[in-house]
Amino acid sequence: MTRAFTYRGSAAHIVFGAGKRAETGAWVEKLGCRKALVLSTPHQADDAARLADDLGALAVGVFAKAAMHTPVDVTEEAMNLVRTSGADSVVSLGGGSTTGLGKAIAYRTDLPQIVIPTTYAGSEVTPILGQTEGGRKTTIRGDSILPEVVIYDPELTTGLPLSMTITSGLNAMAHAAEALYAQDRNPVSSLMAAEGLAAFSEALPLLKADPADTEARSAALYGAWLCGTVLGTVGMALHHKICHTLGGSFDAPHAETHAIMLPHTVGFNAGAVPEQLQPIADLFSATPGAGLFDFSTQIGAPLALRDLGLSEGDLDRAADIATENPYWNPRPIDRESIRNLLQDAWEGSRPAV
Ligand code: NAD
Repeated sequence: MTRAFTYRGSAAHIVFGAGKRAETGAWVEKLGCRKALVLSTPHQADDAARLADDLGALAVGVFAKAAMHTPVDVTEEAMNLVRTSGADSVVSLGGGSTTGLGKAIAYRTDLPQIVIPTTYAGSEVTPILGQTEGGRKTTIRGDSILPEVVIYDPELTTGLPLSMTITSGLNAMAHAAEALYAQDRNPVSSLMAAEGLAAFSEALPLLKADPADTEARSAALYGAWLCGTVLGTVGMALHHKICHTLGGSFDAPHAETHAIMLPHTVGFNAGAVPEQLQPIADLFSATPGAGLFDFSTQIGAPLALRDLGLSEGDLDRAADIATENPYWNPRPIDRESIRNLLQDAWEGSRPAV
């Protein structure tokens, strides 16, 4: 019998296809705008300048200082440019960091956003903004934060370095894994999560063999849309809580931390929700945690938290922080079991289930 659920579709326009970035100007105009501010990280400043050139008179400038975790001082600097340039929209070209800056501007101004993602993080389809000030990260949800238009152009991801391709893909798979057992899941989110996991399980081994494989790049970006969408629509649990703790309090790198933790958190929950995690067991013909670990090994993903510079002593404090505020998880959480889970992830051992 189908369980009770509520469902809300996303209001965003999704545009998918190779070369679709060429339609950015048309989307600026469709939104009723004429003055787009292009955003990127310093690393992608040249790509942002090229996009602004292509937009011609529809672009009022480029702000290429987006940074990880959306620092408020960077947002304030960008806000000055928004005001002085008279920008009426933002175009975010890049990964979650650049998307975060566009969301932070939209949160303050309600300007429409067009996002052109170049990683698989999925932020472009969520109404969630995480920003940092004075070393503290806060998370805000709101309709103005959800970008209006997302242009997925797989050609922009062929240059994503292989190591980031792998970790960013596993970061996306983590959204889908937790969506499978989310308390507020619905039939559509479960379909999207399973399809997103399947897309990455096929694409990542192909990309390891050939990072320029355009079909596999398309499949991965399609997976990113699906996995990001479920992140934006249903609640996350243990896995995301631990990754936020390790990122927020220990500066652990975002995608790598997700990649390492995924087999362990899924293995931890596997016994509590075997039916919900069956799509993962089916994909890898193994128990979910062990199957994901073997997949990570096969695609050359990082496997141990100790390789990210975390010390064994950090694990005690991480277990304290991760368990101090009770939150829902399909398997009840206590400090000792989370400390053991972190130890396994730190050592990079293979989960038993
Ligand atoms: P990122 O945006 O920080 O990018 C990392 C680096 O890779 C940057 O220097 C970037 O310019 C570069 N890069 C991106 N795409 C590239 C490409 N195709 N080729 C070459 N270089 C490229 O990385 P990320 O993992 O996408 O984003 C992480 C951030 O996003 C974190 O701050 C995380 O908290 C946030 N995030 C937020 C949400 C949300 O819903 N709010 C969801 C997921 C992630």
